[in-house]
Amino acid sequence: MTKEIAVIGLGQFGGNAVKQLHKLAADVTVIDINEDKVQDYEDYAVECIVGSATDEKMFKTIGIEHYDEVIIAIGEDIQTSILSTLILKELGVERITAKAQDNYHAELLRKVGANNILQPETEMGIRLANQLINMSIVDYMEISDDTAIVEYDANDIFINTALIDLGLREKFGLNVVAVKRNKEVIVPPDPQMNILKNDVLVIIGKIKNLNRFESKIIKPKT
Ligand code: ATP
Repeated sequence: MTKEIAVIGLGQFGGNAVKQLHKLAADVTVIDINEDKVQDYEDYAVECIVGSATDEKMFKTIGIEHYDEVIIAIGEDIQTSILSTLILKELGVERITAKAQDNYHAELLRKVGANNILQPETEMGIRLANQLINMSIVDYMEISDDTAIVEYDANDIFINTALIDLGLREKFGLNVVAVKRNKEVIVPPDPQMNILKNDVLVIIGKIKNLNRFESKIIKPKT
């Protein structure tokens, strides 16, 4: 079934979300206070509204509670983003994703009931630092304060070793959830499978355990 998604705020973040949602065949409604911005996204949306993120009447008119997801992509104006989340919650919107500019903003959004909170600048900064310091990391995503999913370049781990022999679960409390091999993603991986050159291991676990694994197992680059 086609997903109906409303995106409020058409800056870099919101605008790119709209284009990608359109590409993925979602029905997108765009809302922004700035008429020029709304016009820029006409070709990507089924409905275009020049209006405020806190206009309860407008939300009622378009039946916002029937949308599968509402994305609030306003980072700078914290007050508006919080108020908008509150109004949408009260109108019965099931899923709200909101962009936060810092931890304080994220905490407030959590308190007023946003389901999914993104801090793109913070996340990109952490990801960049991890990639620069530990070159074995292909990608890194924190899924909570203490848990992350990390993709490791297997060339720096053990080639021609069976996954089970790495002992990741027993020694480090980590789980390999997938192995990327060429263009294929092997999910779940067979514990007996051998790690081959150029594989990428996708591992989930507590950040402190991932750090322990990195310091003990990953071969330093020469
Ligand atoms: P970016 O995604 O570019 O980093 P940002 O997080 O810095 O954006 P802003 O630039 O403050 O956020 O706003 C993003 C968009 O939200 C802009 O197009 C702006 O016109 C729109 N916007 C700001 N306030 C409101 C509001 N009250 N109602 C609707 N749209 C708004």
